[in-house]
Order: sequence, then C-alpha cells, then structure tokens
Amino acid sequence: MDTTQEQQFNEIKNNLATVKQRIVDTCQRMGRDPTSVRLLPVTKTVPAEKLRLAYAAGCHEMGENKIQEAREKFEALNDLDIKWAVIGHLQTNKAKYLARFASEFQALDSLKVAAELDKRLQNEGRAIDVYVQVNSSDEESKFGLPPEAVRDFVKELPSYSSLRIKGLMTLAIFSSDHDRVRECFIKMREIQAMLRQEAPSGLSFDELSMGMSGDYELAIEEGATVVRVGQAIFGKRPLPDSHYWPGLG
Ligand SMILES: *Cc1c(COP(=O)(O)O)cnc(C)c1O
Repeated sequence: MDTTQEQQFNEIKNNLATVKQRIVDTCQRMGRDPTSVRLLPVTKTVPAEKLRLAYAAGCHEMGENKIQEAREKFEALNDLDIKWAVIGHLQTNKAKYLARFASEFQALDSLKVAAELDKRLQNEGRAIDVYVQVNSSDEESKFGLPPEAVRDFVKELPSYSSLRIKGLMTLAIFSSDHDRVRECFIKMREIQAMLRQEAPSGLSFDELSMGMSGDYELAIEEGATVVRVGQAIFGKRPLPDSHYWPGLG
C-alpha cells in the first residue's frame, strides 16, 4: 500500500469501527442482541480499487444500487470472496445479470421481476435471498410496493422457488424530522407482524432491512435486522441522491 491507500484504509477501518460500535450501543440501549443486526456496507460510487482496501478492512459483503455498477465491480473484484447484494430497483431485462452473481436482492416489487429472476436463477442452478421492497414513506420518488399491496403480493411468491424470501426492505422518508422517519420504520414493523401471521408457509419475514447512514440507529430502535450504510463508512458521495432516486431534490 502506498501512503494514500494506507490513509484510505485507515479511514474505512475507523469508520467501520465507529458504525459497528454505534450498532452495538443502540442494541444494548434497546435490550437487543447486537448480533441480531447485520451491517451491509453500501459501495455505490466507490471505485473498485478502494473496495479492495474495504475488503482488507473487513467488508466482505457489499451492497450496490444499480445492477450495471454491481456487475462491473463483481468482475473487477472477482478474485476476492465478496457477497454482492443488489439493493436498488431492477428492470426485468436485467434480471439475467443479477442471477449470475448476486447473493441477495433487496428490492423486489413486481411479479414480472420475480418471475424473470426465478427463471434466470433456475437456469444458473442458483437460489438467492430476496427482500420485498415497501414504499413506507408514500413518496412518488420511491420504488417499492404500497403497504396495502404487500399482503396480496407475497401470496404469489411461493411459485418462485429460487427466491428465498427473507423479509422486507424500505427507505424511510428523507426528512430531518425524526418522528416522520420513525413512522416509516414503525409501519414496516407492523407489516412484518401482519405477514408473520398471514404469509404463505415457506416464506420468512424475519428480516427488516431499513436504516442508512443518517437513520440507522432509529431503524435499529424500531426493529431493523439489516442496516445499509454507505457514506458513514466511505465518506460523502460525489453524486447527489437524486441520481439514485429520481424525483428528489
Ligand atoms: C445508497 C443507498 C443506501 C446507503 O445510503 P448512505 O446514505 O450512503 O448510507 C442504502 N440503501 C439504498 C437502497 C441505497 O441506494
């Protein structure tokens, strides 16, 4: 490593330690087992070479919003043992790419995508973990099912045997008002409780993927089991969030 790399490595390592400590602290405050929360580092816009340093610092799972960027990094880092999670909207015609390398898909919100992804996974002889994305903030700019559509949607999922349904994913409202953010997380917990009663057997809704750099502690307070954290680990992104969530800002 040269000095710049060493600096980047130390920064990632320190940020990672800080986030992990905050997860532990929040869990302890809430009487939750700290091992019940998984940290998924989100690596969008971070170049592959920097991700080698992140890998050395302990990131062995990486979440990407866009399938194209995920593919490029998967190929560039193929020599490392990284589990890739796709956490953003997927177009049906891109399902074949995801089926080749992803371990997890956290943004399922249409049966067309479910059917195509299942078919492609069968071709590959693989199965992956899948989360159903819910639009908990009622914002036009967000992907995900409206909360009232989730019950009927999940009834169709047992037909897709290569999709191991694990839980729900959401992005809370972008707001500095903690109460409004918390409302989104509470809504998710309620949907989870309903699904535990009513979902078809064979599907599991134990996982709640919610919380990002700005709100992961709140999310843990409300029951998150997966937090997706990018900027708090890798530094501020050069691209505005509107690049990822059209309609924003
Ligand atoms: C970018 C992104 C995150 C992480 O956001 P940060 O602000 O970098 O922590 C989480 N979830 C999704 C779906 C994302 O696209």
